[in-house]
Amino acid sequence: MHQDSLDRITLDDTAIAAHLEAADTAALMLALVHLTGSMDHLRGDISLLQEFLNPDDGLTDEQRARVRAMALEAIAAYRDGGPRDAGEHYMPSREELQEMLGFLTGRELGEDYIEFLTSELSLNGEDPYHQPAIESVAVEQRADFSVLIIGAGMSGLLSAVRLQQAGIPFTVIEKNADVGGTWFENTYPGCRVDSPNHVYSYSFKPKDWPQHYSAQAVLRDYFADTANEYALREHIEFGAEVQQARWDENARRWRVTIAAAGDAAAATREVTANAVISAVGQLNRPRWPDIKGSGSFAGISFHSAQWEHEHDLSGKRVGVIGTGASAFQFLPIVAESAASVTQFQRTPPWMVANPDYFQEVPQSMHWLLRSVPFYAKWFRFAMFWRTAEGLLDAVRADDGWNRGEHSVGELNQAFREALEANLAEQLAERPDLLAACTPSYPPGAKRALIDDGRYLGALQRDNVSLVTDPIAEITPAGVTCASGAQHEFDVLIYATGFQASGFLQPMQIIGADGADLHDVWDDEARAFKGVTMPGFPNLFFCYGPNTNIVVNGSIVFFSECEVRYILGCLALAMEGSGAIDVTRDAFDAYNDWVDEGNRGMAWGRSNVNTWYKNASGHITQNWPFTMLEFWQQTRAVDAANYRSV
Ligand code: NAP
Repeated sequence: MHQDSLDRITLDDTAIAAHLEAADTAALMLALVHLTGSMDHLRGDISLLQEFLNPDDGLTDEQRARVRAMALEAIAAYRDGGPRDAGEHYMPSREELQEMLGFLTGRELGEDYIEFLTSELSLNGEDPYHQPAIESVAVEQRADFSVLIIGAGMSGLLSAVRLQQAGIPFTVIEKNADVGGTWFENTYPGCRVDSPNHVYSYSFKPKDWPQHYSAQAVLRDYFADTANEYALREHIEFGAEVQQARWDENARRWRVTIAAAGDAAAATREVTANAVISAVGQLNRPRWPDIKGSGSFAGISFHSAQWEHEHDLSGKRVGVIGTGASAFQFLPIVAESAASVTQFQRTPPWMVANPDYFQEVPQSMHWLLRSVPFYAKWFRFAMFWRTAEGLLDAVRADDGWNRGEHSVGELNQAFREALEANLAEQLAERPDLLAACTPSYPPGAKRALIDDGRYLGALQRDNVSLVTDPIAEITPAGVTCASGAQHEFDVLIYATGFQASGFLQPMQIIGADGADLHDVWDDEARAFKGVTMPGFPNLFFCYGPNTNIVVNGSIVFFSECEVRYILGCLALAMEGSGAIDVTRDAFDAYNDWVDEGNRGMAWGRSNVNTWYKNASGHITQNWPFTMLEFWQQTRAVDAANYRSV
């Protein structure tokens, strides 16, 4: 919550003390600095433990009680002193802030980290993703420029907000009937975000989320609220699809062909724009598996990303193909009412235990977030830090480590053992399932799923079976496996993921000299900083090649960095001829660096199936470094990497 919009505290001490029981101790201690103007409590015997795979903050009950007592006193004094303006709270000096960051992270932070974290924390309410370069361009010049954004999902809306703030006219083309992208499309039962919601949100639009990992409708509404709050809808054309974008070298503009979405025979029309931002995401086009007999099934079948809610699955025999994030979320719910659920597993997922996964944010936590000055700010930031570099070290390969598909390094091995222990505990009664559900690839090589016991609980139900016998064929009656076993279904659900490495498909993008982007890529999508591509002037990608994260951060952070970078590119273009093209040298050097980074990670070492790789095994999706490094990479645009065209 913004400090100006906090609820006034009217509770008595007993009620405040009760709410404090739910407080995040670190966030509370840091908020206390603003309330008391003192740093003493950070300098005593209380220090936070930040240990690999240890969720415990290392504090004793006595220490926690002491912090809460201190907080009660400070909050009561704040209450009794009447409402204060945000500016009246104590603001730590730079040195004190540095000490506060050190306290939270338990690390001796270098200057680069302090700069990054101070910006992200935005204690004085500054915009952490502000792009100053755009302000050096005359307002009239900005107003004369135009941008076409493809997609009104998370990063398309973000692009629109930032362009609006910069005074650059824009239009958004959205194939769906409303905003939200993946949060509009994926409506399968149980669909929810699996990054902590307090971090999976825009820096400029904090929200008091109802759950730690909120459900799809909450996310969809958040993005709809963003569109409404920033009056973006009048700039969005819904139900329209970009078929082609062609760079016109003479006009220095993109000529974009648009048609009604989903209608191959629809009449097309052309619009032009100085620049195009593709914000279509990586997980946008459902992938139907190439299995013999696909399409022959006589019952009801659909893809998880296109859930057909009109079918009542209760009492039905349901087959599910796939064990990725989508199946993981809907299977336990479907199993509650179906006659039977048979899940076909090709590769088991690793699961990271998190009891908060389906939990409501407790009322006391809401009260703290809404009422205690700077608590929400530090809470979000604490979540940001905990996910920032997250488990990156645990999925990095050690030189000389030689345990094949088992693990890629010492920490990765420890990670594996912790995950195996979780599986063993949950499947103690089912050695058959334990064997089937234990992955034979290193953690991090494939997306791990957040687990609160629900999924493995569902697999142990009498009406659920897990089949590891490979699928040989889909038949009118169901599925025939390699062993010859036949499974008959009323409903077959394809939870088989997305065409992730087909970036920007099925659009045709024609750049300078008539080059077709997909021919140039030849299934090896890459970009400079994930954003620009040589030969395609003034074309920018959000969530482009090698910007997906595996175990650290939130994808919203990446989009915020990318859009700031894009605004820097637009400023550079406007300062010159109106169009810029990234140099081949910069592009090649950058991609060599990223490829090298990916080779050193679990997903680069392992041979397991994963959407992180393209068909030839090249990692086209993932960012292998820290969030700090992406922040640094995209903070400002170096003109030396671009040429005017
Ligand atoms: P996915 O992770 O790509 O999973 C697809 C599943 O289908 C895999 O288990 C795959 O097996 C299986 N499969 C594909 N072709 C098959 C075939 N021919 N025969 C048998 N099995 C086959 O897709 P997803 O579950 O939709 O998730 C995709 C991504 O979307 C996630 O990784 C995540 O980034 C995002 N997502 C996020 C959430 C969230 O909680 N926020 C929820 C859903 C999705 P293999 O593993 O052997 O390839």
